[in-house]
Amino acid sequence: MDDLNEIRWNAVRSRDAAMTGCFVYAVRTTGVYCRPGCGARHPLRANVEFFSTNGDALAAGYRACARCRPDEVRRVDRTTDAVIATCREIERTRGGIEVGALAGQLGYSEGHLRRRFRAVVGVSLASYVREYQSDRVRETLRSGVSVTDAVFDAGYRSVSAFYERAAPRLGMTPARYRDGARGELIRYTSVETPVGIVLAASTDRGVCSIRIGRDEEVLTQDLHKEFPGALIERDDEGLSDVALILAGAIHGDADAGALPLDLAGTAFQIRVWEALRTIPAGETRTYSDVANQIGSPRAVRAVASACAANSVALAVPCHRVIRRDGSLGGYRWGLPVKEALLLAEGNHHDAARLS
Ligand SMILES: [Zn+2]
Repeated sequence: MDDLNEIRWNAVRSRDAAMTGCFVYAVRTTGVYCRPGCGARHPLRANVEFFSTNGDALAAGYRACARCRPDEVRRVDRTTDAVIATCREIERTRGGIEVGALAGQLGYSEGHLRRRFRAVVGVSLASYVREYQSDRVRETLRSGVSVTDAVFDAGYRSVSAFYERAAPRLGMTPARYRDGARGELIRYTSVETPVGIVLAASTDRGVCSIRIGRDEEVLTQDLHKEFPGALIERDDEGLSDVALILAGAIHGDADAGALPLDLAGTAFQIRVWEALRTIPAGETRTYSDVANQIGSPRAVRAVASACAANSVALAVPCHRVIRRDGSLGGYRWGLPVKEALLLAEGNHHDAARLS
């Protein structure tokens, strides 16, 4: 599934003027904001910021493009008008939009408005709302507030409602990382913990890599190898909440499963990673438990491989999967780390038996 800014970026790239009014995009390097459909040369994705309205772009310090004049009111057809009004209503209600009522006000049936929305925006109204809410959570998280506050602020009624909706988002398209994440801005930070240095990296959509090791330089080099095309920058301040959650997770008093993720994987790997996210701290599962849980009871080895391919330690808690005979199995960051994590999470019984 695409996320909100991906939908918008596609409209920019294809100069799709149909979404004019739904959003504007701004270019950090030029300080200018444009409407989708602007004929100017395409900026680099990493330099682009999206805003719902002209006002938001102005407030962020951008000025209107002289070429596409996003600040001029343009006559658009009634359908596009209705779609723009729908976008505004989604933003105003933080996704709690009453589609039927709005459709009535605009003089459409609900089904008609939904079809029009899909025709203009390219995705269904329901997925657009979902993406809008997930994006808001991320944005708020980046500003340093707690996960719970971010979830409520984004208009989810409960944390569990957020996870129900957010879980499928683990299925990020591999295409994003084709080409070594070329042009992506990836920020990272690190934190010293009892099990070693934990290095976490994030795109503007979520955490994309969490590594554990002894040598910070090696960890950083490996990050560059993982995303050779990306622009990689240290950002301790911007990621301080992530560091805090990870450090807490190692002491067993924060849930790294709360971090928004931006992962690439095969459909099978993603099913496994989603299943791992449901294992509570303090519990373990066997590789065959997980295989059963995802409905592929014979795929035990493939489950073990998917665990080994997990690029976000702690956030996808593959350390909570052990062998049926009670031995630890493998761990990409070393068995002592796995054992220490299980101990910290209160898995004394298992970990003692395992060592
Ligand atoms: Zn322009």
